[in-house]
Amino acid sequence: MEKVRCPICNNHKFTHILIGQDNINKIQGKFNIVKCTGCHLLLTNPRPNLIEIKKYYPIKYIPYHPDFKKSVTIANFRLKYPLIYSIIDPQHNINLLTHKKINNILEIGCGAGNYLYELKTLYPNWNISGVDISETNINYLKKNNINAYLSNLTNIPHKDSSLDIVYGWMVLEHVHELNKAILEIHRVLKNNGIFCLSVPNAASWEFKLFKENWHGLHLPNHLYHFTPKSITMLLEKNNFYVKKIIFQKNFSSVFSSLSVSIENSSSPKFIKKISRKVLKWNIFYHLVTLPFSYLLSFLKQSGRITIIAYKK
Ligand SMILES: [Zn+2]
Repeated sequence: MEKVRCPICNNHKFTHILIGQDNINKIQGKFNIVKCTGCHLLLTNPRPNLIEIKKYYPIKYIPYHPDFKKSVTIANFRLKYPLIYSIIDPQHNINLLTHKKINNILEIGCGAGNYLYELKTLYPNWNISGVDISETNINYLKKNNINAYLSNLTNIPHKDSSLDIVYGWMVLEHVHELNKAILEIHRVLKNNGIFCLSVPNAASWEFKLFKENWHGLHLPNHLYHFTPKSITMLLEKNNFYVKKIIFQKNFSSVFSSLSVSIENSSSPKFIKKISRKVLKWNIFYHLVTLPFSYLLSFLKQSGRITIIAYKK
């Protein structure tokens, strides 16, 4: 385990917030979440170092599951019914692309490449690439004719000022060398290029309600627990201008947090078994809970946020 300074203000003084555990892979261990006394960033500290963290990314890790069929279905639905898609889409409804010519796109932490495949179907003319730390994923993507490279984000294999958009869905909170990675993203983007990313929102009511059982904590993989304010500070520190923060319309992490809470409670086994089945997220739940998702989004209380930032 390693103790770290605050990546935003370099402070080394923290206040204790809570103790949590790995609720996803159930690997043993307790982890502290602390708050920086300088800038109020929440972080996991101490945290597993670069070698220790590997065991928390087992083969069964969900973003490592390729599902290109689903990606194509989503892309085709998006093309055929753009209006419906814009109402029900939880995170990717971002029309930042229509006003200018797009050539080169990179997704950081592309995992099994499901989003890359969706983009490839939507925009066949784009030059799309991805980087990830998983060799298995990269080899798989190469076999499927997608430009993919092994990279831990401190060394992205693209030229200076060569990319129009860098996407990073739920990635930054996993990155050990955070400032280095953001500077590297800054380097490869063209002037006024877009960094479009998402992170869990630790300023949400979900975190206040579920505390150590909040799905968005994902300990110890999530090294930072951003709020709209702290992610803005971090990006601005690294020469990005935050243009927009979108409060995602998606209730899924409430269901996951509820499931974690029941799992960690003293409820009888059969209750846990039933809740695991009943609370498994699906499109029907998404549609039924959409009014609540819209309300939470309106109140800026969603469990996940999308940030659109421009390179200064
Ligand atoms: Zn700080």
